[in-house]
Order: sequence, then structure tokens, then C-alpha cells
Amino acid sequence: MTVKTRFAPSPTGYLHVGGARTALYSWLYAKSQGGKFVLRIEDTDIERSTQEAVDAILEGMSWLGLDWDEGPYYQSKRFDRYNEMVEKLLAEDKAYKCYASKELLDEIRAEQEANKEMARYDANHPKIIAVNDAATEGEPCVIRFRNPKEGSVIFNDEIRGNIEIANSQLDDLIIRRSDGSPTYNFCVVVDDWDMGITHVVRGEDHINNTPRQINIYKALGAPIPTFAHCAMILGDDGAKLSKRHGAVSVMQYRDEGYLPNALTNYLVRLGWSHGDQEIFSQQEMIDLFSLNTISKSASAFNTDKLLWLNNHYMKTSDPEYVAGYLQWHMDNQNIDISKGPALTEIIGALSERAKTLVELASSSRYFYEEYEAFDANAAKKHLRPVAKQALILVQTKLLACEDWSDATLQQVIQDTADELEVGMGKVGMPLRVAITGAGQSPSLDVTLRLIGKERSISRISRALEFVVAREAAQ
Ligand code: GLU
Repeated sequence: MTVKTRFAPSPTGYLHVGGARTALYSWLYAKSQGGKFVLRIEDTDIERSTQEAVDAILEGMSWLGLDWDEGPYYQSKRFDRYNEMVEKLLAEDKAYKCYASKELLDEIRAEQEANKEMARYDANHPKIIAVNDAATEGEPCVIRFRNPKEGSVIFNDEIRGNIEIANSQLDDLIIRRSDGSPTYNFCVVVDDWDMGITHVVRGEDHINNTPRQINIYKALGAPIPTFAHCAMILGDDGAKLSKRHGAVSVMQYRDEGYLPNALTNYLVRLGWSHGDQEIFSQQEMIDLFSLNTISKSASAFNTDKLLWLNNHYMKTSDPEYVAGYLQWHMDNQNIDISKGPALTEIIGALSERAKTLVELASSSRYFYEEYEAFDANAAKKHLRPVAKQALILVQTKLLACEDWSDATLQQVIQDTADELEVGMGKVGMPLRVAITGAGQSPSLDVTLRLIGKERSISRISRALEFVVAREAAQ
């Protein structure tokens, strides 16, 4: 048997991180089994589905690197097939037409509630029987699935174990509305059958649908897939993760400066584990993943851990990979990199300190363009008249420097300090503020090298002007 899984989002908004985790688990399971992964867009709810949401899902999936082997299939293009299956069930008397109006159903429900009975559709209610007997062909009606009345539905969820629901708990589900549109539970079954899905991995919010769907599989004579229902993701306060906890859309994580490999590593661990290992390459995830090691309990989202992973991946991933994503943020922050160092150099120099690509981009600005003004505190502390001599001497030496390499630049700073008989800091700090505008930067040799000779020299002149003006004002 070839394993085939799917991700089946409804395109009504952005790609939520919870959905992305479900997609990841589904994708990983397919990969781990040498199987196939299908993407299906569940857009039968015409009112709520939008093209914008479809695009957001495809963009989010691609950004995460969750490629699909088949699809995207669109349910809205499969109505003929659903109708064909509805007709088949009608012909076999496994489904029936019901003409009861909404008003009548409301009235029956109120009656049931008043009698403290379970509020549900009851095909044997005398009023419903009467309406259906009196109806004539052509009147508006819904099609209901004839759910078995006896026994129970038992299935073995890969995550939650054995689940049993008595058929007496399940009423006759509408499979086609009076406007002719098929309903979710029916379409899902026809699709999963037609698409050969062997394993359904989805959120636990669908667990109540599963017994209903299993009865439909049986009625259609379709093989029943294996199910795995994933627990919810919670915010740090224990409530279901939502916008008020921060980012929930995958693309918002991109915007906030996360790398896709950090987010996927974070998401895989949110509800799945392999011992106490935290870092997983994509291949390791594929090799180690299994459905029955997914946790039954809900997991709390922890942004600090995600930031830690993001920093780890910025530092340790192939710089070319990181550069691809950093470029997006440089563009976003209007930093033109054409007249400065390669992004891979920036990553090497600055990723240690940055937690996100947004920080990495903004902290790299002075490598590409003039800083606007000196950081006030840094200038106050380090661009004092006593720094003048050091700045003049180091500038002279840098100007004469022909080999603009880390080692030589380091030597120039050392020689300046030696010649002036001062500590390295007395040269280094004014120089740092001069070339970067601020009091913090990577090591000076690397910083000088990446800023380049011409820019470094002119920035030292700028700092000297500042020092001279300050001196004059004293
Ligand atoms: N379309 C459903 C949703 O977005 C998922 C259906 C399923 O996975 O079976 O919640």
C-alpha cells in the first residue's frame, strides 16, 4: 500500500500556524513512508471562500517548503462527482429526501428541549413523516444520509487510540442542501476515497465528524482510511492560540523575520518529540517522524523558544539559504545592497546577535548606507577631544593600508594603540563609533573590511569633524 496523506484547508483566511503544523505532520508522514502528499482546497462554502485566501495558503505552503505531489484539487470543481455519489446513495436507499422546513425543525427542537431530550433531527418524528409523505417531487428538499440506528462506530485513532461512538448519538446528516450544494462531511469522504487517501491527519476539532464520515465510507463501499487527530495549539495563557497572542498566520512569521526551517523545526516539536532532541534537520524529521508519537495533549506556543531556534538557524544554516530570505527583508526595509558587502558576509558577521532577519537587516544598514547621526550616548562617551589623536593616526594608517584584510586591519589598530601608548579600547571605541555611528558592532577588523576602505576613511573624517566641533564648543 502506498501511503497517501493530504492537507485540506478551507480558504477563508490566512494559513494559520495550527493548520501549518497539521500540514507539516501530514507531509512528514507521507515522506517518511515514501508516500504522496495531496493538497486539496475545500472551497464548497462559496460565501466564505476567497481567491485571496487560496493564494495565501499556497504562498504559506511554498514558503514553508511543504511541496505537494498532487493538487491543488478544488472541491468547487467536483460538484458533479459529489452529485453522482448522492444519486447513488439515493438509488440504494442509503439517503433520502427530506422536505421538513427550517421552521418545523426549530419547532421540533424546541419541543425536545422542553422535554429535556437530546435536540436532534428525528426522521421518525410524526410531523416529519407527515411532511415527507405529503410532499411532491420538485418541492425544495435536502438529502439526508440514512445513518445506521444500531451499533456503534469504532475507530483506532493513531494519536488518541480507540474511539467508540454509538450510532444513536448520530442523526441523519444533510449531505446535499436544498440549494443543491453538497456538504462538508460528504465531500471529504468522496474526495478522500477518490484521491486514494490512506491516512487522514487533521485537527481534533474534526474528531466528532469522523464517525459520521466512517458511516458514509461504509455506505459508499469505500475503504476507510486511518485517522490521526492532532491536539490544539494554545497561547501562553492556556487559551486556544489566536491573534491576541501575536502572530498566527504563517506569512506573518515571515514578515517578522523567521526562517522557514526554524518555524518548521519549531512546529514539529510543538506536539511531537524524539527523546529530548530539539534541533532536527528536515531529513531527520522525515526519518524519525511517526504519527503515534504525536502528543495527545495540547501544546503551548512559546515565542522565546522559536526565537532561539531562529537564531540557531540563522547562524548555522548555509549562508546562501539565509541570504535568500534576508534579501526579502533588505528590500522590505529599502536597503540597497548593490554597493556593499554580499549578504552572506553580513550573515557571518551579524547573525550571532540577531534573533530575527528583521533585526539582522536593520542592524546591517550602516554597511550599505551612511548612518543618519551618531548614536548620542556612544558619541558622548567616545567621540571626545581626547579621541582626536587616535582617530587621526588610525585614519592615516588605514589610508596607507593596501591589504584590506582582517589580519592587516587588526594590526593597524594594534599599531595605532602601541604608537600612542594607549590601550586598544582607546583607539577601538572611537573608531567603532566613527565607522558605524554606534557603540556596538561585530569585531572591528571584520566591520572595517565589510564597510570598505573609502567609506571607512570618509566616516572617520565625519567623526573628526564632530570631535573638532565639540572641542570648539567647550
Ligand atoms: N477543510 C477542513 C478545515 O479546514 C479540514 C477537513 C479535513 O481535514 O478533513 O478545517
